[in-house]
Amino acid sequence: MDDYLFISALQHYAYCPRQFALIHVEQAWAENRFTAEGRILHERVDSGEKEQRGALRYERSVQLVSERYGVKGKMDLLEIENGDPPRYFPVEYKRGKPKVEDWDRIQLCAQALCIEEMKNTQVSEGAIWYWEVRRRETVEMNEALRRTTVAAIEGAREILTLGKTPSPIDKKQRCRACSLVDLCQPETFRQDWSARYVEQLLTRQ
Ligand code: SF4
Repeated sequence: MDDYLFISALQHYAYCPRQFALIHVEQAWAENRFTAEGRILHERVDSGEKEQRGALRYERSVQLVSERYGVKGKMDLLEIENGDPPRYFPVEYKRGKPKVEDWDRIQLCAQALCIEEMKNTQVSEGAIWYWEVRRRETVEMNEALRRTTVAAIEGAREILTLGKTPSPIDKKQRCRACSLVDLCQPETFRQDWSARYVEQLLTRQ
């Protein structure tokens, strides 16, 4: 397979399919404070060094690929505990704080799917380390998260295949934090929707 989907792009899709399409179909990108801080954080942790501490080995900037799901990418940290079989524990670094939504967990789960395929193993847990609150959130790779992740992979791939940018999402708060809000112009779409809705109501009378 040569048209792999980048694991990091799944986060864009989960946040907003239109944002995913603007970045990965239309090749648009705009940096804001959030994306800049995230980039700087990853530059800091991407040392590529390996380290052994007791029974634990730490591998950084690990390359990942899954032929089955057609995804590839790089993970921040892989903790490997000696054993038979060894225990693999992916760790992703994020600039913000834990979220109710699965955006970050989807990315971690996609990493776990790659590790399972590459190492012929089972990954039951991983963690996301949040810079803003300086703590790890443990993530269980349960069936629900795996299904959500596979659905995100399929949804993102469909957009790439069709090459069509979806309409804006109906989440104003999410749009306010989006680096592409100026380019996307969600309010223009919303005004159009409102105008069309009023028109339909009037023509029905
Ligand atoms: S501004 Fe809103 S609708 Fe537009 S890409 Fe960003 S999150 Fe999606």
